[in-house]
Amino acid sequence: MSQTVTKKLMLFFPKCECEKPIIYHLVKDHNLIVNVFRAKVTPEEEGYLALDVTGTEEDIQKGMDFVKTFNVSINTTGKGITVDEDHCTHCGHCITHCPTGALHIADMATREVIFTESKCIECMGCIRVCPYNACASAF
Ligand code: SF4
Ligand code: SF4
Repeated sequence: MSQTVTKKLMLFFPKCECEKPIIYHLVKDHNLIVNVFRAKVTPEEEGYLALDVTGTEEDIQKGMDFVKTFNVSINTTGKGITVDEDHCTHCGHCITHCPTGALHIADMATREVIFTESKCIECMGCIRVCPYNACASAF
């Protein structure tokens, strides 16, 4: 029997997909145990679900393939912080306010500011200081 694993995921729903019974199908059709720990889902606006899914790697993959058919974006780190590439000017102001180095300059030649999501602890520091509102939180 395949080993079960638990993965933390963040699902972002476009407006039109919020009422679809996606979680129901993940449980019923893909044998997954789902633990929703943060959610904002309303018919009028974009929404998100932060959840743990437990199952075999194969069932989780099939479940995620199913979710993607609804035009739902999946963030596998389960983080709610986003940095909008279109608004970021790479001014660097956020870097000294980011306690973990999640926002950093990888190449001093280009001085491009990179967001490494896996290092983010969701302290919201960058959201408070970004002059261009490039950083946002789903929560
Ligand atoms: S402060 Fe905002 S605009 Fe400046 S580098 Fe950071 S995310 Fe980009
Ligand atoms: S939320 Fe905090 S840890 Fe995450 S990128 Fe922003 S400042 Fe860094």
